[in-house]
Amino acid sequence: MDIKMMHIKDPKETRQKNQVPRSYRGLPNRGATCYLNATLQVLFMTKAFRERVLLGAPSETNGKLVSALKEIFEELSNQDRGAKSVSTHGIIKSLGIQRYVQQDAVEYFLDILEKVGPDLAKVFSGTLRNIRICSENHKSHDDSPFKSLQIPVIIRDGLFTLVCNST
Ligand SMILES: [Zn+2]
Repeated sequence: MDIKMMHIKDPKETRQKNQVPRSYRGLPNRGATCYLNATLQVLFMTKAFRERVLLGAPSETNGKLVSALKEIFEELSNQDRGAKSVSTHGIIKSLGIQRYVQQDAVEYFLDILEKVGPDLAKVFSGTLRNIRICSENHKSHDDSPFKSLQIPVIIRDGLFTLVCNST
């Protein structure tokens, strides 16, 4: 398969052209592993992350996990109608998940980013600036790095949309 030729439709593109959504592929729930499936779909749908995983070479430290991600991403890239759901067996094994119990999706998201290493994790990295302004208009700030942020979303026309306030 020529990965460079692969074009994954992001929901935004699909929406713009007002087309019927492509047939996204699902991941089976192996018994309360929906937290992991949700996390994997987010990682896959993030273009920069997906491309780095598909085109990059796994290193010695993150090899098993990145190879497992690559395998799943290659399968998920096949969006032919009627394509079957994609097994998560490889990724479950490489993450060392032994009991299928409910876990926190954000926790696993951060865990996966930690394990794939800084080169891949930086796709999701940002800096959060706290600005304090006193009543006499003195300003101070501090910056802290983040890999996940809690932000409010609203549902509009059946789609999740970010709430953005510009000041
Ligand atoms: Zn002051």
